[in-house]
Amino acid sequence: MTRSTRQDTGQEQFLTVLSRDEALARFEAALFPRTIPTEELTLADALGLALADDVMAPIDVPPFDRSNVDGFAVRAADMATASEALPARLLLNHETIACGVAPQIPVLAGTATSISTGGPVPRGADAIVMVEHTQPTEGDAIEVRRGASPGQFISNAGSDIARGEVLLRAGTVIGSREIGMLAACGIALVTVARKLRVAVLSTGDELVQPGDALRPAGIYDANGAIVSAAITENGGEASFLGAYPDDEAKLEAAMREALAAHEVLILSGGTSKGAGDVSHRIVNRLGAPGIVAHGVALKPGKPLCLAVCDGKPVVVLPGFPTSAMFTLHDMIVPLLRRMAGLPPRTEAKVTAKVPLRIPSELGRTEFVMVSLVEGDEGLVAYPTGKGSGAITSFAQADGFISIEALADNMPAGSEASVTLFTPHVRVPDLVVIGSNCTGLDLVVGILFRAGLTVRSIAVGSLGGLAAAKRSECDIAPIHLFDAKTQSYNAPFLSDGLELVEGWRRMQGIVYRPSDIRFQGADADEAVRAALADPNCMMVNRNQGSGTRILIDQLLGPARPDGYWNQPRSHNAVAAAVAQNRADWGVTIAPVAQSAGLSFIALKEEHYDFALVSARKERPAVQAFLTALTSPEFNEGIEPMGFIRPG
Ligand code: AMP
Ligand code: MG
Repeated sequence: MTRSTRQDTGQEQFLTVLSRDEALARFEAALFPRTIPTEELTLADALGLALADDVMAPIDVPPFDRSNVDGFAVRAADMATASEALPARLLLNHETIACGVAPQIPVLAGTATSISTGGPVPRGADAIVMVEHTQPTEGDAIEVRRGASPGQFISNAGSDIARGEVLLRAGTVIGSREIGMLAACGIALVTVARKLRVAVLSTGDELVQPGDALRPAGIYDANGAIVSAAITENGGEASFLGAYPDDEAKLEAAMREALAAHEVLILSGGTSKGAGDVSHRIVNRLGAPGIVAHGVALKPGKPLCLAVCDGKPVVVLPGFPTSAMFTLHDMIVPLLRRMAGLPPRTEAKVTAKVPLRIPSELGRTEFVMVSLVEGDEGLVAYPTGKGSGAITSFAQADGFISIEALADNMPAGSEASVTLFTPHVRVPDLVVIGSNCTGLDLVVGILFRAGLTVRSIAVGSLGGLAAAKRSECDIAPIHLFDAKTQSYNAPFLSDGLELVEGWRRMQGIVYRPSDIRFQGADADEAVRAALADPNCMMVNRNQGSGTRILIDQLLGPARPDGYWNQPRSHNAVAAAVAQNRADWGVTIAPVAQSAGLSFIALKEEHYDFALVSARKERPAVQAFLTALTSPEFNEGIEPMGFIRPG
């Protein structure tokens, strides 16, 4: 795929969109081989860094034959015939070997020397008898009433670590265990790969630093914080240099300064072809060979730009935080770790089953955010992606999977490799998958305060029901209307599921309080007024939602303007009306209330829970059921605008 772009100079330059693998191959070819900068540090300072070279043991550990118990150093042969009836009598040598005391007197046949745990075994002795198995006797002697085997209770020199053996291999990351091994061998200084010094810079006129007030059309700079933290998490030393406006001269000065003082420069934003996007033009002036890939067949993440300027990598990540995150973790972090002599982050990958078919664009490597839950046969990875701009999907996501460019989908049941954002998966105590509701926050809050972790994944009622049938969640919140039986939820349950009553939500017509067309009208009058005015715009709901059935009943055959705007949530309807993109729609009372809209009540919707029977006895599920009957819940739910059943 080729496209052209017009440069400052008026020259036409062709930019080729490369595959992920080709882009990486070119980047690596321009970066490697290279020497890894190293430094010598004390053990304490080396914590978390990778060893630059193999470390050999300079001594034996223990350095001498050592007693493992408190007792007496003896010759085993002296006790060959010792028994209760005929104890062996050994004369005591006149020394006591404590830790740190070098023995002076050899243990001759028929003698014993008192020795403490950790004491060096004296010449002549070949076994230790425990003090508990001896009896002091007159004449400065002991009696031993059982035999001893040669070598018993002795650790030989070098049995722990042998001199000359490879103690730790190059690339090993130094933790407290490694520090212990090095210290035990008397090593005080180690040569480690130096932390990579990475400059991080954000670009965009719209960016505001967290902590500052957001101006109109401003966006908080998330990437600066994300990228800096990810570098630190991966053993680098990040310097965040701030956000720069899309001003070519200023940005170029900042980039040159950053490159002079650092080994790597990571920018974000400004890589698409918008008027303000200048960073890639600058990159090409910073050194040879310059840009090796600009435009990579990724979804999201296509505008990624990879460059090497006089030996230093310069990366321009896409502006959308999720896109920046995917490309950073998938392509950049592994390279930076290699540059820093760090091993690949294997702990940041797990295998999980994908429960549903995920469609994917052919020709691009597609990243999909996933949330992990424990299924009957191991981890299950639920897609939680919401498009490249969504930050909130981070909160639910444990990591992401990638679907290769040649596939147009990942089939249900596939085993996928999940790249974790944080390499410690904590599978939640309770998994709730289905329709979301603010009322649910009340219940989750009660469980949270009881120390239970809850993961709630919003996939809609039908998605939740399917997850419950596959046993991938404990509870599926649903509000499904069955037209045939004119009832909610129960008709949709199958074997293995049971219904737990939740609460009711009043659905009604919403409009802006200032809209005189609807003021004082009942539902029929409101719909009549809406249909009578050709300028009156509605917002619909998606097919399959209970609310949509209600709307279709209200409209009959009419298809007013806005009918094809069919968002998937109650909140989206309220936002459309509140923001004047539509004049009326149907949503639930609590949502109307928080959006400041007027409300004409229509019909109660039942929001219930499909419970997976096989999981009912789990403590977290029991806690959920208890929470539903708790005073805290009973007192909290109605003020939120919901209705208790019964
Ligand atoms: P760009 O690549 O500059 O065209 O940016 C693409 C989108 O990402 C725009 O909506 C930007 O506002 C947004 N964006 C760019 N940089 C950042 C950042 N550092 N933090 C959050 N959003 C950003
Ligand atoms: Mg920008």
